[in-house]
Amino acid sequence: MPDCLFCEIAQHRIPAEIVEETENVVAFRDIKPQAPTHVLVIPKAHITSAADIAPNHATLWEQMLSTANRIAVTEGIAKRGYRVVTNVGDDAGQTVHHVHLHLLGGRSMAWPPG
Ligand code: 5GP
Ligand code: ZN
Repeated sequence: MPDCLFCEIAQHRIPAEIVEETENVVAFRDIKPQAPTHVLVIPKAHITSAADIAPNHATLWEQMLSTANRIAVTEGIAKRGYRVVTNVGDDAGQTVHHVHLHLLGGRSMAWPPG
């Protein structure tokens, strides 16, 4: 999609610190990390938010979650625990309208979130 920041990152037109890339998924470090590990996992295809995930995205969604879980292991945060979050819409604070999982870890986190 034109003018989508994460489509541009997925296509390597805007630089990012890429942690892992597969056929359908890219993971890169958040530019403004909120935890020692803060990685964003996106599909290469443009999907606006998790609200638009449909049955035909089942494999892709699993690939995104598996990527987050795998990176949690390589980042050394899997044992102590981590958070996987996706924001949908304004009240949740979604600022980039290309679906992404936030993988956060490396510190203890409060619940409920702010
Ligand atoms: P959201 O608020 O939509 O759930 O998350 C968007 C995330 O993208 C934020 O955590 C923000 O820091 C991150 N972000 C925004 N612009 C860029 C960028 O240009 N590069 C990277 N790596 N992350 C970005
Ligand atoms: Zn996009």
